[in-house]
Amino acid sequence: MSPARVRAVLQPAAVEVALHGVALTELSGVGPARAARLAALGVNNVLELLCVLPRRLERAAAPCSLAQARALASKCAQDAEQGELSDSDGGASALWCRVRGIVVRKRFSRFGARSLLRVEISEGAEALELLFFNQPWLRERFRPGDEVEAEGRATWAKGAAIVVRRLGSASAPLPEPLTLTSVYPSTEGLSQEMLRALCRQALEQFGSRVREPLPAALLEEHGLLALPDAVRELHAPSDEARHARARSRMALEPLIALRASIETRRRERARTAALVVRVDDQVEAEIRAAFPFAFTRGQLAIARTLRDDLERGQPMRRLLQGDVGSGKTALGAFACLLAARAGAQAAFLAPTELLAEQHLRGLAPLFARAGLRTAVLCGSLPTRERRAVLSDLAEGALDVVFGTHALLGESVRFARLGLAVIDEQHRFGVAQRERLFDKGRDVHGLLMTATPIPRSLALTVYGDLDVSTLREKPPGRSPVRTRRVHSPRELVGELEPRLERGERVYWVVPRIESLEEDEVGATERHARIAQGSWARHGVELVHGKLEAREREERLERFRSGEVRVLVATTVIEVGVDVPEATAIVIESAERLGLAQLHQLRGRVGRGVNPSSCYLMGARSAGARLELLERTDDGFEIAEADLAQRGMGDLLGLRQAGANREGLASDEVDLELCELAATLCARSPALLDAYAGRRRS
Ligand code: ADP
Ligand code: MG
Repeated sequence: MSPARVRAVLQPAAVEVALHGVALTELSGVGPARAARLAALGVNNVLELLCVLPRRLERAAAPCSLAQARALASKCAQDAEQGELSDSDGGASALWCRVRGIVVRKRFSRFGARSLLRVEISEGAEALELLFFNQPWLRERFRPGDEVEAEGRATWAKGAAIVVRRLGSASAPLPEPLTLTSVYPSTEGLSQEMLRALCRQALEQFGSRVREPLPAALLEEHGLLALPDAVRELHAPSDEARHARARSRMALEPLIALRASIETRRRERARTAALVVRVDDQVEAEIRAAFPFAFTRGQLAIARTLRDDLERGQPMRRLLQGDVGSGKTALGAFACLLAARAGAQAAFLAPTELLAEQHLRGLAPLFARAGLRTAVLCGSLPTRERRAVLSDLAEGALDVVFGTHALLGESVRFARLGLAVIDEQHRFGVAQRERLFDKGRDVHGLLMTATPIPRSLALTVYGDLDVSTLREKPPGRSPVRTRRVHSPRELVGELEPRLERGERVYWVVPRIESLEEDEVGATERHARIAQGSWARHGVELVHGKLEAREREERLERFRSGEVRVLVATTVIEVGVDVPEATAIVIESAERLGLAQLHQLRGRVGRGVNPSSCYLMGARSAGARLELLERTDDGFEIAEADLAQRGMGDLLGLRQAGANREGLASDEVDLELCELAATLCARSPALLDAYAGRRRS
């Protein structure tokens, strides 16, 4: 989900109305350059600035004499000697102190990219050192005789020292001792001080325009902070408990908006008439017979349900959950064929180009036999072809279009869109799926996912969806054996015989280039394998930065067996279907979420030969990965994954990009979702207040 959309959901409705379009440049000290830096944080206007969640709070330290600071430092040295690891918070917080002194001398040393600046300060007969790690620019700041004030953590480094957290200066003195300040997500070229000052300024200048949308009685009943107070508390924190309440109030806003829009849509849908697709048993059987396999019992039951949904005359909203490889695509295609029978167009949305192309490749023959015209629309399509697809869609010359986010673009118009199938729907946000539905009138929607969510949560978050679950897998599959390994060498004996037999091996490396010393990137891994003895089996590399055509060609070489080893990033997570692949190696597995690992593992075990998955990664990730060794049940894995990731991710509320934590809603949990539902139920006026603005 693009950051821009995330922000749109995160904005509290009430603030948005009052502060609509107030540009950052209205703040003093913000010109175009600084506004651009803020944009890198996902902050594009004053409203978004007011809604920035601090990463954490910091309590200013109490002033100490240098003698007191030395006492703290030597206590720290003793503790270390006795091997007492002071618990990181309780213990460490006692070591914070604020000192003042005169600069005596400084020493600067570099170790490669790292550096250490030591500044000795004195106060009367007492002296100690201030330490600055990796801040070489501070070298020029200190001259002997200067008075400095600094705050930091006492430590022992061949003598009493303080690792400085912040420095006071004439223009920016340290905060009052023991007061709380907000620490913001940082970004290139925007200091903490600057962000803090800007947030404060925004608060003073515009904070009073923030209005509370919830009725006072509801606020009181649920012990909620009013929105204006919450916004103030974020940037001018008064105490930790109240700050936590403020964060949870901010997190509640988008949930209410989400819930209100879901509820509004549901009500609208109940009143609207949708395309009626009526087919009899014989036609249904005919449609099914076009598939190259017989539907499993589970598929049959869901096909029946889909047929009922499409017949009802109200827009379908069905969530189809089923483990990786359970055969959801066939059901999506089945729905498309039904819709086409009724003369409607269908759109098949997928999160990656690879998957969209794979779907088209797999289903094109089926659709062609039914006389349907198909095309794919992706971001990488050359302009000429793109224009042709767009005009064919708008004129109704295409029946089924496969595509990525490109399908959601403004320029995409349909002559008669009747059905939208959204594959891997958890990879899209609620707003995105609605954007596709909005491209037709009363469009039927089928959402498919291999990352099931617990039922209670489904009801809260996807309250407008009917849920079907595909439990069994197509016949003839052998389960995938999963094992942790620690080095590529352990794998040679396992993989060699497979390659000899002509089977294929995926080798997944999360990053294209590694940033860490003891880690290998995909490019490097490919080079190493290509130089080794497996070169004779052929090895290919694919990743997201390749041009679509190039990637497709390389994949084709793997598919056809021309090369048997495919080194890849997680681009192959969804959509690559090569039955001859019987082993997948996943390096740096600790970097990936459980559900994602399970998806990757789903690339193998698609044929009759027994398959294996090897997880390579930091030993520390052991316990987490152990679950994958133990179970192949996507539902169990999804629940564990949810518990680990938190809900922000799941709702698509989490900010993409570098500053995840800061702008994320880690506060979102099931309870808060339920509260949002309760509030909407109790105060129907909220539906208009929140959902109304989405359409304006
Ligand atoms: P997913 O649910 O993960 O999207 P797919 O739809 O990609 O799974 O199906 C996985 C594989 O199973 C595909 O190769 C597909 O052709 C095959 N398949 C699906 N349904 C059946 C079936 N009823 N019998 C045999 N193979 C099937
Ligand atoms: Mg699928």
